[in-house]
Amino acid sequence: DAALLSVRGLEVTFPTRHGTLVAVDDISFDIAAGEILGVVGESGAGKSMTGNAVINLIEPPGRISAGEIRLAGERIDDLGSTALRRIRGRRIGMIFQDPLTSLNPLYSIGYQLAETIRAHLDLSAGQARERAVDLLDQVGIPDPAARLDAYPHQFSGGMRQRVVIALALCADPELVIADEPTTALDVSVQAQILTLLRRLCRERGTAVLLITHDMGVIAETADNVAVMYAGRLIEHGPATTVVQRPQHPYTVGLMGSIPRLDTEVDRLTQIPGSMPGLAAIPPGCAFHPRCPHAFGRCQRERPDLMPAESTRAACWLHAASGDRGPGPAVLRG
Ligand code: SF4
Ligand code: MG
Repeated sequence: DAALLSVRGLEVTFPTRHGTLVAVDDISFDIAAGEILGVVGESGAGKSMTGNAVINLIEPPGRISAGEIRLAGERIDDLGSTALRRIRGRRIGMIFQDPLTSLNPLYSIGYQLAETIRAHLDLSAGQARERAVDLLDQVGIPDPAARLDAYPHQFSGGMRQRVVIALALCADPELVIADEPTTALDVSVQAQILTLLRRLCRERGTAVLLITHDMGVIAETADNVAVMYAGRLIEHGPATTVVQRPQHPYTVGLMGSIPRLDTEVDRLTQIPGSMPGLAAIPPGCAFHPRCPHAFGRCQRERPDLMPAESTRAACWLHAASGDRGPGPAVLRG
């Protein structure tokens, strides 16, 4: 069946005085209705940029310089700002890390929900209020009718994020983009919010683009996963397979960095070094300076996604034998 969201060859570039920086480099993926695709990687990998490109919210002078984005078959990457405003909120809902970027502290949540509902749907004030109560109930706000007149600061962080989810689902969008939706929350609250998000999207057939730096979130929530590194997709496959048998050395490193519930660990301590800046992406495989398995070819030729067990990975270790070039001689350090 056809994908609800289809992204093909997406490229996002930023012109600078020193040349053009490529923030998202030739990315393709699909999300079906009711599916959660997790996009994971360290900060600076291009995850948020990919999500922002889908709703055409790239800050100028950055721009989508190549590729196509389709929602239910229609191109949306080349729409004008009026058409885009109609899509955002109505057909594509958005959830961000900090609930306070989505909620206005000066207005009651009932007012904000009703206003958003009426901006997208042709309903009376009374009907919008009823819908707001119903949505708050669906996201697990106790005694929702009595909470309509409460202000954002009167809710806990977790309850506020539930309100933000209600806001994102106001107009029954086909797609929700959730960028680090639980990062600001306590670990125990995170799990509840992710369970809620997954249940609501399953029930409604909503597709979700879930952006996170945390493989634990992927393991708990996503159907499929796209791992990003330095603007590229470097592993792509079913979430359970990628979590249990990651095929790209970077994904293996990410798996080693799942924080335990009871300890605050320094994430990604297992992978030495750090993500390169956009102006200094290494030639060949961009991961090679950090990769414990790098061999000669890795420094010269850039790998594309290739079949690797039941996922696809952009890594020369998975090249068909005979196509692997000299090596692999393992480099240390
Ligand atoms: Fe490591 Fe080479 Fe694979 Fe890149 S291509 S991840 S450097 S083994
Ligand atoms: Mg981000």
